[in-house]
Parts: sequence; structure tokens; C-alpha cells
Amino acid sequence: MSYPAKKGKTMNPFHLVLVLVLLSLHLSSLAAEKNITTSIKDSGLVDAETVVPGLKVDLKYSSTDNFLKKDVYGDLSKCYLQSDAAQMLKNAAGYLAAIRPGHTFLAYDCARPVSVQHIMWQAVIGTKQQSYVANPNTLTGSIHNYGCAVDLTIVGEKGSAIDMGSAFDSLGAKAQPRHEIKLLRQNQLSAEQVVNRTLLRLVMVKAGFYPISNEWWHFNCATKKDTRKKYENIP
Ligand SMILES: [Zn+2]
Repeated sequence: MSYPAKKGKTMNPFHLVLVLVLLSLHLSSLAAEKNITTSIKDSGLVDAETVVPGLKVDLKYSSTDNFLKKDVYGDLSKCYLQSDAAQMLKNAAGYLAAIRPGHTFLAYDCARPVSVQHIMWQAVIGTKQQSYVANPNTLTGSIHNYGCAVDLTIVGEKGSAIDMGSAFDSLGAKAQPRHEIKLLRQNQLSAEQVVNRTLLRLVMVKAGFYPISNEWWHFNCATKKDTRKKYENIP
């Protein structure tokens, strides 16, 4: 006995191919996004929120609210650091809480894979922003690539960031600690803003971090040489 073929709707071959192409693009984009967090975890880094009490995280490169105006982090939304660096940050948070009870840190950037460093570098080559992104083709690249650097500010008792006189990743002299004294004298930075930055540096340096001269928010957990010696970068 044979049954007559059902008169069901058959898919137009063109539509079928289109659906398959879209599906494969979607799956490959999911895999690419997944790789950022996976490669960081595979490098043995720790989620700093599990180590540092009260740490808040808002990864600016996982949004378009950054100087590139691009989300280059995909699914990465957590602050991963080398275990040593996370422990140091925990100590810094302890010093901060002792000086200013109720205050804690807000991290804007932590571990960043070398693959993302290349994307950021390509976006700024030949622009005035070039000096704000480490060239991944140099001996060290960025200390962020090792999970040994953190960009952060202080959050007050009311839950908002205290006034540092310039936004995170803002370009120009106001963001640069090396110009603070001059800008304080010229009333371009207030005493309170310089005190707030000094407090951040004080607790971070006490915990072993190294500040840099051109970004108030950036701290390294070791020198470049020691970073290369102690850690592998994240591919
Ligand atoms: Zn940084």
C-alpha cells in the first residue's frame, strides 16, 4: 500500500540556503564571543569579584561607552586577574575601607587577551588615540594582556564614583597624574579631585601596585620585566 505524497509546504531552496548561512554565522559569532572568556579562564586567571570584597565591575570595552565607541569584549563582562593581582587588590580594598569606611573599588578594565589588543591597536593606528593603546607587536604589549593590570576608580558610600576630575579613558592633560600639581595650581583640578586620586594611588601603591604617569585609573601589579618573567600573556 502506498500513500499519496502530502501536499505540505516545501521550503524554497534559496530560503533554505539563506537560513543555513544565517545559522552558521550566528553559531560562529557565538563561538568567537565565547572564546574571549574561555581563553582568559584557560590562562588560569581568577574572577576578582570572588576575591575582593565589595568590588564592582563595569567593563567599558564590553560596551560602546569607551573612546573607541566599539564593544570589543563581546561576552566578557567580568574582571579577571592573576591570582596574585587579585590578592593585592583585596589588600588595597582593605586599606581603602580602613581610611574611608564604606568606600570600595569600581573596575573599568582588567584582563584583556592579545587578540583584542590587536583589534584595539588597528582601530587607533595613525590617530591621536594611538598613544593610549599599547602596541601588541612589542616585547611586552599591554600589561592588561597578562591579567596584571587593572583600571579602576573609587566608589563612595552612595554607590557612585567619586570625583577624579576626568572621566576614565578621557584624553588630555587632566587625565595625567604628571600634570596634577600644575593643574591644581591653575585651578583646573580641585583640591578634592587631587585628594581623591592621591587616595586611590596611596592604597594601590601600599598594596604593591605601580601607578603610571599618564592615566590616573591604571595600575600594574608588577614591572614590565617581572610581568613577562612571572606570567604568560592571554592569547
Ligand atoms: Zn589600563
